[in-house]
Amino acid sequence: MKPSTTQKLDIQKVERSRIDQVDFSNLTFGSTFSDHMFECDYKDGKWQNPTIKPYGPLSISPGAKVFHYGQAVFEGMKAYKDDNGKVWLFRPEQNFLRINKSSVRMAMPEFPRDIFFEALTTLVKMDKDWIKPGLGNSLYIRPFVMATQVGVGASPSTEYKFMILMSPAQAYYTGNVKVVIADHYSRSANGGVGAAKAAGNYGAQFFPTNLAREKGFQQVIWTDASNHQYLEEAGTMNVFFRVNDTLLTAPISDRILDGVTRKSLIALAKQDNIKVEERPVLVSEIVEAAENGTLKEIFGAGTAAVISPVSAFSYKDKTHELEMLEDSFANRFKKELLDIQYNRSEDPFDWRFEVV
Ligand SMILES: *Cc1c(COP(=O)(O)O)cnc(C)c1O
Repeated sequence: MKPSTTQKLDIQKVERSRIDQVDFSNLTFGSTFSDHMFECDYKDGKWQNPTIKPYGPLSISPGAKVFHYGQAVFEGMKAYKDDNGKVWLFRPEQNFLRINKSSVRMAMPEFPRDIFFEALTTLVKMDKDWIKPGLGNSLYIRPFVMATQVGVGASPSTEYKFMILMSPAQAYYTGNVKVVIADHYSRSANGGVGAAKAAGNYGAQFFPTNLAREKGFQQVIWTDASNHQYLEEAGTMNVFFRVNDTLLTAPISDRILDGVTRKSLIALAKQDNIKVEERPVLVSEIVEAAENGTLKEIFGAGTAAVISPVSAFSYKDKTHELEMLEDSFANRFKKELLDIQYNRSEDPFDWRFEVV
């Protein structure tokens, strides 16, 4: 059955915007929210009462299943403003498809396409002043779904809440990231939920990431749960390795998040005639490439930071430093991607989506 609703979007505007209280030159990622949010409830087998209303707290029973069994999924996307004040999204269809794929894996109902896009575009239009022009500035958009049925019986919820929040963001400089290659903890397993943006995946990463931080590293490169032989993701990003002039990245599987940034970089690389291999990448081949000087770059790829270059990695207590190249693939792809996102270049793949 196709999820659908015939209900009209209800819009309740704020009486007074909070935008004057925000210092847009000093934002902490994801901690300030725009004036409005979207909310829609699933009840009696259908999504009902789609509403845009002032951002604010919710009232939810502490018995709601999300608090007990973690039935929750989310998305991350951005809205960008070009130099003429036009507002764009980047491949939003991908996020729509992915949140439903995540929901299916968590035994949650899919959300209807028509309300998703109507809510998203209406919300972005209403709060478009929260997007500052200039490369790197954006409005980070966080759609999410949670189980709201009251009851601590361990079964899928019959009620859910779908919401969209928006948070103004500045360019996100991760600096030079040092990473530890995991040889004990895992992010995801065969047949698990690693391919879903399920909330619990992130909570589970915090502890091993803290251990890495205590040793002076910022992130963990996750390896396959079975033998820790293959390199899979970098923190909450997909990961790329450049050996000589070839890019390597793990293939999509039920352990790996199908990132929009990842697939966009692969398309850009192929367009630039750069060889890309989507295949299992051995830890041993990357260590060897680091030792014989053919490993040129490692970088993470994801919506929040776009591209995050790695300056060193540690494996089994040995640290390998990487030279930071001026003309790196990381810098080149970041520029190409940002130019498309901010409407500063042609859009050969039809990725931009004009909101207003
Ligand atoms: C969201 C996410 C990514 C990146 O996906 P994008 O669509 O590029 O933002 C990569 N890995 C994990 C684990 C993620 O949660």
